[in-house]
Amino acid sequence: MTVMVTGGAGFIGSHVVERLLDEGYDVVCVDNFDDFYNPKMKRRNISHILKRGNFHLVEADIRDIASMTEAFERYRPKRVIHLAALAGVVPSLQRPLDYNSVNITGTWVLLELSCKFSVEQFIFGSSSSVYGASSKAPFREDDPAVEPISPYGATKRMGEILCYTYHHIYGIPITSLRFFTVYGPRQRPDLAIHKFARRIMLAQPVPIYGDGSSLRDYTYIDDIVDGVMASLKNEFEFEIINLGCARPVVLMDVVRLLEECLKVKAKIEFHPMPPCDPPLTHADISKAQKLLGYQPKVQIEDGIKMFVDWFMSEWDWLKDETM
Ligand code: NAD
Repeated sequence: MTVMVTGGAGFIGSHVVERLLDEGYDVVCVDNFDDFYNPKMKRRNISHILKRGNFHLVEADIRDIASMTEAFERYRPKRVIHLAALAGVVPSLQRPLDYNSVNITGTWVLLELSCKFSVEQFIFGSSSSVYGASSKAPFREDDPAVEPISPYGATKRMGEILCYTYHHIYGIPITSLRFFTVYGPRQRPDLAIHKFARRIMLAQPVPIYGDGSSLRDYTYIDDIVDGVMASLKNEFEFEIINLGCARPVVLMDVVRLLEECLKVKAKIEFHPMPPCDPPLTHADISKAQKLLGYQPKVQIEDGIKMFVDWFMSEWDWLKDETM
């Protein structure tokens, strides 16, 4: 079966692609290698799979209808896992219209083409950012999620709403997965764990927004991939499902774990908390457990060790790159 993975060269996408290939799927990876962070990282994420027979790379922008139509015509994917996006909460304040264009228009193009080419299942990579500061923790999928506090969160919620509309009109089965702060090997360099590790190693100050007591539900990449694969194998008419670890961790504890693993002390620099950053994310994962048999296996203490193992194995080239 052919699965199209958009954003397949990115952090989460490259892990999903790898698992699909290992399980024998034909994979069409669509990515435009945009420069939100160093595209070299994305090339490296997939360099080891380029030659695999069941892997096909389409270098295209998901908003480019002509190129995307060509890709659908050529590969006729039965499933689409849509992960391409401008991700990141704080940068969405600087470039809200770009976020609108990639995350909303891009999603729209993919939904149109998926219906036109009779795709049998569409999986949308959504985010915990759809929950605003007013959502009651632990966050449940039946929360109305109508008050996201960042442009990024708003675009992700809009993506989910579009998914519903297309499901309603065309009957396409759609599962929207709300990922909670994903980390692990190949993590985006703009995200806290990777950014902190880099700054600690370069003896640069680690920026902490707020007083360091904010809580995030950090979720290890392998658990996220398990959730994505379970969604692919359980076709639902229309569902929105949280994928988190369900164990929020205090930001300063993450810094301490990194210090321990890297064996270097961090220089901390405190900054005011931006208004788009929630004080807490916490997934209620009972729906994922019930519908997908999802059970996160990796706790932060082990996950950070595995991240640091990867990070140090790449440090020789990472240290000279601008992220
Ligand atoms: P990432 O930036 O590493 O991956 C996104 C990929 O999409 C990149 O390879 C990028 O080049 C590609 N892309 C961007 N714009 C594109 C376009 N116009 N056309 C084609 N490709 C394009 O990010 P990630 O962390 O792997 O996130 C993957 C998905 O999961 C995103 O949709 C993101 O919003 C969502 N998500 C991520 C997290 C997290 O913690 N990493 C949390 C919640 C949701």
